[in-house]
Amino acid sequence: MRQSLSFTKTKKENIKEEPSLNANLLLRAGFINKEMAGVYSFLPMGLKVLRNIENIIREEMNKTLGAQEVLMPALHPLANYEITGRHEIDVLFHTKLSGGGDLVLGQSHEEIVVPLLKRFVYSYKDLPVGVFQIQTKFRNELRAKSGILRGREFLMKDLYSFHADEDCFNDYYQKSIEAYHNIFHKLEIGELTYLTFASGGTFSKYSHEFQTITEAGEDNIYLCEDCNVGINEEIIEESPSCPKCGKERKELTEKRSIEVGNIFPLNTRFSDPFQLTYKDVEGKDKPIFMGCYGIGVSRVMGAIVEMLADEKGIVWPKNVAPFSVHLISLGAEKEAEKIYEKLAESGVEVLFDDREKSPGEKLVESDLIGIPLRMVISEKTLQKDSAEVKERTKKEAEFVKLSEVVNYVQENI
Ligand code: ATP
Ligand code: MG
Repeated sequence: MRQSLSFTKTKKENIKEEPSLNANLLLRAGFINKEMAGVYSFLPMGLKVLRNIENIIREEMNKTLGAQEVLMPALHPLANYEITGRHEIDVLFHTKLSGGGDLVLGQSHEEIVVPLLKRFVYSYKDLPVGVFQIQTKFRNELRAKSGILRGREFLMKDLYSFHADEDCFNDYYQKSIEAYHNIFHKLEIGELTYLTFASGGTFSKYSHEFQTITEAGEDNIYLCEDCNVGINEEIIEESPSCPKCGKERKELTEKRSIEVGNIFPLNTRFSDPFQLTYKDVEGKDKPIFMGCYGIGVSRVMGAIVEMLADEKGIVWPKNVAPFSVHLISLGAEKEAEKIYEKLAESGVEVLFDDREKSPGEKLVESDLIGIPLRMVISEKTLQKDSAEVKERTKKEAEFVKLSEVVNYVQENI
């Protein structure tokens, strides 16, 4: 993409009205726009980042969990929530049809997915099944001060699984833990993301969260460094030791963190009220066991910014970055243009700064945007028949011959 054609612009100055680091940097770098507290637009580069995160998640849902993707609506009939008793939860946005009839905006999709599956699941032969979507959720959050970490409108991946018995559910649940670890590793936040024990509500002893260590987080967890797991602040009160090795609370390390995902045994909490059952081998009606599995897609984007940013701006991991290379022409338009064509032809995602701006401005802006590899072409580099290449996280640059840049980039992205 040519920056000269981009409709968004960056902003040098700090935005005082946006105290959260993730939103501040994303706004300044032109990835998002704030429409009101907790509600953001995703601009071209921000959307590319979201899509990259989505695709990493989608691949694991398909491959590791064999789940099938759907897209469910954001408008839900309130009546479905009266059936499950969730019509009075405080985060629900309510609205009405012009002809009468109460609706809510979806904050989660149990009330839609269960009636949906009831149309298709009859017998043990139809189970197990996993259905997921990547979709916008609405929650009337009391506080929305953490940028895209806590939106009133935000993007979530939600998966629902359906099983003939608890053993089948448990196997799937274990596999979902594996899938989630794979996802967070591919997103390059794996090393700081911990499987964390949380309360299971009324259905089971535990549910699990995936908590990423960051000062910007809203949660506190207790880490057991031997078992590599966390314990949520709320359950540490109930069981004040590591559920795996029994290590006592005083030996655990308290850390600030953000919940990037969460997996939850639902038992028959939602299948019962909708009478979602199946016929077993003998033709008897049996209850269906469910699980739900969420990841905050837009929250993950914010968490990555919070964790990896430095004093100059955003630092995108390679798998998530909107572009692989930031090509910058400093008064060497003709040569830079040729390199841009070559890189684009070879399939590399390039952001090309072809604008007339001072070198200082271009380089500062490049650091703010945070693309993993920067490639500068100037009169100075052309004297060496080279481009100057630098990784966003490194201080030193190196010269790469113009004839070698495509190979170099393909080997380093
Ligand atoms: P939290 O405890 O942070 O309020 P939650 O337990 O209500 O989240 P779930 O209902 O399990 O969250 O939603 C699944 C995932 O969606 C969460 O793990 C989180 O990553 C993300 N999420 C939840 N609420 C928000 C929000 N307001 N903005 C952005 N992401 C969110
Ligand atoms: Mg939670």
